[in-house]
Amino acid sequence: MRQDFKDFKISYSRINTYLFCPYKYKLIYLDNFHIPITADITFGHIVHKTLEQFHGGKEHSCDDLFECYDNSWKKDGFTDPQQTFEYYIRGKQMLENYYKSFSESKTRVLYVEKAFDANIGKYRFIGIIDRIDKHLDNTYEVIDYKTHLRIWEQEKVDKDLQLSFYAYACKNVFGLNPDKMSVYFLSENKKIYTKRSQTEISEAINVTIEIAENIAVENFEPNIPKCQMCDFKLKCKYSKDRVESGE
Ligand code: SF4
Repeated sequence: MRQDFKDFKISYSRINTYLFCPYKYKLIYLDNFHIPITADITFGHIVHKTLEQFHGGKEHSCDDLFECYDNSWKKDGFTDPQQTFEYYIRGKQMLENYYKSFSESKTRVLYVEKAFDANIGKYRFIGIIDRIDKHLDNTYEVIDYKTHLRIWEQEKVDKDLQLSFYAYACKNVFGLNPDKMSVYFLSENKKIYTKRSQTEISEAINVTIEIAENIAVENFEPNIPKCQMCDFKLKCKYSKDRVESGE
């Protein structure tokens, strides 16, 4: 049976989940399964919130940034006080390096946590862009923050679907053309730059429409090779681990 898609909105998270495993998509978005909150997830939220507050407010000193950090801190997902402390110190170091680079740059932060709602075919596509800068030469840069420790290879950044969607949203919703895009790996205070051509953006849109059509006809085939890496490997009826754990 086809679902009622009157209010259906697709997003990068949904697409990413569907690409990982269509059945996982069903578990999360139709059956209301919840991904367990981990320290990494909480830490990512805290740092994003900190930078949103900082750039949306005083943006003057490193102490302002640390104040935003303390205001944004929350405990969910940390397993014990030692782990909480280690993440907290890691975040402070990260933000100190961030502030140094930011204060030396000549860029103007145009938008932070900028929400978009775009039409893709008959579907609505929603998302939030971490930051859009305008440089002195009137060029624009889209920035996506990452807080995990591992830095991606250039090839992964070049192929990242999320950045293609951001490029689409910038052009079609905000009416600006991002001259460059970057993934900012805050743990190493390192940006990796990329661009998106119209062809690459069109390819991303085609993937989106294809996935939306699959969701519309409830095509939720399990992707068994991914079970080992899945948050639901002990809950999902298709997972070998669940069967072996006797659940
Ligand atoms: S356990 Fe396997 S089949 Fe089930 S949702 Fe996860 S990846 Fe998909």
